[in-house]
Amino acid sequence: MAGQTYLGIPREEIPWYPTINPDLCTKCNACMDFCTNDVFAAGEFSTIVANPFNCVVGCSACEKLCDTGAISFPNKKEFVNLLQQLREKYSKIPNISS
Ligand code: SF4
Ligand code: SF4
Repeated sequence: MAGQTYLGIPREEIPWYPTINPDLCTKCNACMDFCTNDVFAAGEFSTIVANPFNCVVGCSACEKLCDTGAISFPNKKEFVNLLQQLREKYSKIPNISS
């Protein structure tokens, strides 16, 4: 999903996606079966986050269904502050296509 934007911010600049702790992942595939966005893939030693920027900004649904607690997300309060900074940054950049 390269080239996607969120609130006018390039998706690749928004650090919202799951992280998997390989020491806790049992490769049960629950996250892969649940998420339809092709974020996860099978890795050699654990499930991996293959396409982080396919994750829906603000979604953390898969975190709750991981029985071993292997999935984590950024701190929401810190993330909201960062998103605000990015919005301000991109609102100051003129849109050369218009
Ligand atoms: S749900 Fe958790 S334990 Fe299962 S594959 Fe995903 S990260 Fe690994
Ligand atoms: S947070 Fe939502 S969109 Fe992102 S990987 Fe998990 S289920 Fe998929």
